[in-house]
Amino acid sequence: MTDVFTREKRSQVMSAIRGRGNKDTELSLMTLLRRYHIRGWRRHLLIPGSPDFVFRREKVAIFVDGCFWHMCPRHFSMPKNNRTFWKKKLEGNAIRDKAVNLELRKKGWKVIRVWEHQLRTGPSESARRILNALIRRRAEMDL
Ligand SMILES: [Zn+2]
Repeated sequence: MTDVFTREKRSQVMSAIRGRGNKDTELSLMTLLRRYHIRGWRRHLLIPGSPDFVFRREKVAIFVDGCFWHMCPRHFSMPKNNRTFWKKKLEGNAIRDKAVNLELRKKGWKVIRVWEHQLRTGPSESARRILNALIRRRAEMDL
């Protein structure tokens, strides 16, 4: 059966269904960082991949990956309709994620990807990963 929506519209519709991008999870990470008194992060910095949170001094980039959009191994399942469209789109995301990781690492960034579900099930673990990375970078960079 053909889709009643254009690709762009379908994408908008699915975004609405699956949560607008990462907005909610980004907010949970922000809350988490505040709770653990992790400071010095910035948002919307223009570096490759537009990470959700950036620690510029330590060169640590944090991405919050939605379980659907980034095909989390624990929660993702391919939508039953428009499989070809979704497969192409989501695999495109995965390729892009890898390319972004590589580019940032080449430029000396430490990249941390946090799954959306980790913020629900193990927020302290996510906070610890971020803290450890910051501590390590500060030591390495003699900050
Ligand atoms: Zn997940």
